[in-house]
Amino acid sequence: MKDHSVTSQPATPVVAILGRPNVGKSALFNRLISRRIAIVEDTPGVTRDRLYAAAEWGGREFAVVDTGGLKTGPAGTLETQVRAQATAALADADLVLLVVDARDGIVPEDREITELVRRAHVPVLLVANKVDSPTKETAASEFFALGLGDPLSVSAIHGRGIGDLLDAIVALLPEVSEATPEAASDKPVAVAVVGRPNVGKSSLVNAMLGQDRVIVDATPGTTRDAVDTFYERGGRRYVLIDTAGLRRRARVGAAVEVFSAVRARRAIERADVAVLVVDAADPVADQDQRIAREIADAGRGVVIVMNKWDRVAPALRPDRQRVRTAQHALRFLDYAPILAVSATKGWGIETLFETIDRVALAHRGHIGTGVLNRLIGEAVAAHEPPADAGGRRLRVFYATQPETSPPTVVLFVNEPSRMPESYRRYLEHAIRSGFDLPGVPLKLVLRRRRGEEARA
Ligand code: GDP
Ligand code: GDP
Repeated sequence: MKDHSVTSQPATPVVAILGRPNVGKSALFNRLISRRIAIVEDTPGVTRDRLYAAAEWGGREFAVVDTGGLKTGPAGTLETQVRAQATAALADADLVLLVVDARDGIVPEDREITELVRRAHVPVLLVANKVDSPTKETAASEFFALGLGDPLSVSAIHGRGIGDLLDAIVALLPEVSEATPEAASDKPVAVAVVGRPNVGKSSLVNAMLGQDRVIVDATPGTTRDAVDTFYERGGRRYVLIDTAGLRRRARVGAAVEVFSAVRARRAIERADVAVLVVDAADPVADQDQRIAREIADAGRGVVIVMNKWDRVAPALRPDRQRVRTAQHALRFLDYAPILAVSATKGWGIETLFETIDRVALAHRGHIGTGVLNRLIGEAVAAHEPPADAGGRRLRVFYATQPETSPPTVVLFVNEPSRMPESYRRYLEHAIRSGFDLPGVPLKLVLRRRRGEEARA
């Protein structure tokens, strides 16, 4: 996925600008972009609008990533920093602009980056910058020796050669894929409707399935404590895990509470997205909180439904105070969208479907490594990790997201034990505000970067 948001949508091609410090990457970035993609959020001091910008040439749109941003971030040796930036950008890019400084000639770091690019098998354009006048052209030809073909001579500062460079970029961009989000993931989205007895789970399932959609199949769930209903909506396939369905058929009587807890747990384990139903007219109960915690612990996507809204208001109008109170009681799901619904009146059902979709996509989605690193770099630069009693500090080198469902971000650091909880939350918040991650638990895993044991 090559978008700044976490989606499976057809990706905008990404062009990454790579090169050692001071060759003019930022200057070139500013030359190439046409408008900045605003992914600005409300974290003070975190300027995400520099991460990434849109460019357009000859009718083709693409995104440009300036990998220079970590330069002013957490310290590290030059070599490892450049390496980390390059690695991060390469994981994400459709095309690399390897920038060199024509005035300096080839330096060892140029060779090193060339080697990284070659191993990544990403198309690359060699750009010799700072060719401010025609007389400097000959200096640029030396870079042919890097084995990346003839360099394109440009002057980012004076705007020389930029049109030719853009032509070359557009010629090398991949064709826009026709892939749809559905094609990207064939597995149906498993949705579990859970909650304590009488909150309206059965009614909600009926309202959801009663809508105009194709029900493909209804089979008893594998664990015999839920009914799985397959349905399609907008070309996407879902399986609705209905824990209340069985009770409709065979009353469990007095043991309802116990069984419902067990059923809920099993349904959550099988789900991509859990829909936690609470009663809008009742205060959040212990049992609601227990189920909420299970959803959080299981790492599932989640939507909170405040059902029976018709009992608290004559229409689906917002009641911030009521929502906030429920949100507070369920605060370990503080990332969950919370919706007002009336199953019996059919209020909010469409929004519920849309929200389930967004959560499911984000839960399965992948955050581009390049943008992720820029964002973390900027967050760290804006607000440094606190030092411990001995004056030692956590250093964050780079991040990747090796896993989805739920998204797991691995941070490579000098010493994991130096991460204070408050700082972990700060970084998590920075990631959440930079990317669209509704209802998705985010796992932050700390790893010591190789070779750090000796230095830490
Ligand atoms: P980065 O570290 O690779 O992002 O490099 P910058 O874009 O910050 O540029 C480093 C220095 O090179 C700055 O002083 C720029 O003004 C200068 N520079 C960038 N492009 C050109 C150019 O085309 N010609 C000249 N003469 N200087 C340039
Ligand atoms: P479950 O035990 O969670 O499956 O709950 P049910 O769907 O069986 O609903 C329990 C009771 O709440 C029933 O009497 C429903 O008619 C009622 N109910 C469910 N949803 C709503 C709603 O949106 N508004 C109102 N007023 N009552 C509802």
